[in-house]
Amino acid sequence: MTTDQKISRREVLTAGLAATGSVLAATTASAVPAPAIVSSQPNIAGRRFRAWVSQGEGLDRTKLETLTMLPITGRQVAVRTQAASLCYTVSSDVLGLPRGAFGAPDLAHQLHVPPPSPQYEEFRRMALIQGHGGVGIVEAVGPDVRRVRVGDRVCVSGTPQCGSCYQCLRGRADMCQFLGHQGPKDLVALATRDDGTPVYVNSHIGGLAEMMVSFEEWVVPIQSEAPSHLLSMVCSCTSVAGLGCTVSQTLATIGPSASVAVVGCGPLGLTAVQGARIAGASIIIGIDPIRVRREVAQKVGATHVLDPNAEGDHLLDTVREITRGKTDYLWGGGRNWNASGSGPDFVVEAAGANRAKPMLEDGPDPTGLLPMQQAYLMCAPGGHLVTTSLPVGNISLPSGTFSLGGRSQHAGQAGGMNPMRDIPRFVALLDSGQFDAKSLATTVVPLEGMIDAYREVLNRTTIQAHIRLSA
Ligand SMILES: [Zn+2]
Ligand SMILES: [Zn+2]
Repeated sequence: MTTDQKISRREVLTAGLAATGSVLAATTASAVPAPAIVSSQPNIAGRRFRAWVSQGEGLDRTKLETLTMLPITGRQVAVRTQAASLCYTVSSDVLGLPRGAFGAPDLAHQLHVPPPSPQYEEFRRMALIQGHGGVGIVEAVGPDVRRVRVGDRVCVSGTPQCGSCYQCLRGRADMCQFLGHQGPKDLVALATRDDGTPVYVNSHIGGLAEMMVSFEEWVVPIQSEAPSHLLSMVCSCTSVAGLGCTVSQTLATIGPSASVAVVGCGPLGLTAVQGARIAGASIIIGIDPIRVRREVAQKVGATHVLDPNAEGDHLLDTVREITRGKTDYLWGGGRNWNASGSGPDFVVEAAGANRAKPMLEDGPDPTGLLPMQQAYLMCAPGGHLVTTSLPVGNISLPSGTFSLGGRSQHAGQAGGMNPMRDIPRFVALLDSGQFDAKSLATTVVPLEGMIDAYREVLNRTTIQAHIRLSA
């Protein structure tokens, strides 16, 4: 009788981990024992650290302060920040812009932007460290943490993955149940001001501080010696979404030699251009009003670039012409059934609304709705569209095309990536040189330079800005 016959399947199911543990102990006696998982909580409580704390209203709502760490417990992980990327989405929260400014004072009113939600108002009142994650070294873990250990280099991801909810188990970790537990009441203070005010972190992640405190669901161990600011790019929200929608293949697959269009070539779009190249696309069209961004798109993989301002109403025709097959006729292997039926097999939409008027070339629509409509309509029948940006207002589409056009639209929160599976993959793409992060990392500043760097992000005079605290 072999060892695994000594215990029935029913016993395994009823006794659970204890029973399987005994089987594993018996069958792996000759194997090298796994190192013990060490829960460690050094003197993290009481430590002083610097953080950019946002609170209240006004252009000076974010200030560099020195705080005192609180103890951690349970599944919490304390990480010494090495670098973080500055995400455009929170630029107005960091810089204190009125909600819905868009660089045009009357526009929010004209668009009937709804008033801020009570939750938004509550976030504005809290003392909050902003940021969408970063990279660093684990300094302390709560007693229940299994995923990482003290001393590990880790990514604090913009998206959690618990591994046991329905979404994680069905292969949609980008929709993990933990995403729904980031409201004001869910946050746990990580530190206090000298007057005792509790200080929290945005979405359990933060990043604009010398320390990040998260839960293990948001933390991914990584094995890389790459510079911290480049790692922070493939760890936090922006490039993760760009690589997620093109490389992860959760939402849709870019087939060999596919044609791809990327609408909006900011840091997310320029990452998607690279992901399309890595995935084997033969035609990659980068579309952006900013000349410098189009030049970078060509450098990192775009075969064609288009300026939506110069193309005007002809943008879709030009894209269709680029992607039209050479044998596009009956019995010739053609793929399109009418003039408007051609287009890219795969479209990534990454334009979005202006938080302020850019200091470089502005696009045709500050709400971001027009680029999203164009992205949908330029997609070929049978093709896939991943939308990643945050326009303002409601999108309208021709209903016939919506039902009969054969396009599949996918919502691209984190590009559909699975953090524990894909972030190590993205790190490997960085380490192997397949993902060119250096060409996108156009601003790198120490912690003290964060506000000036965020103004560059808001003005769109940089591509991806980072704070770097250590190498
Ligand atoms: Zn973000
Ligand atoms: Zn989950």
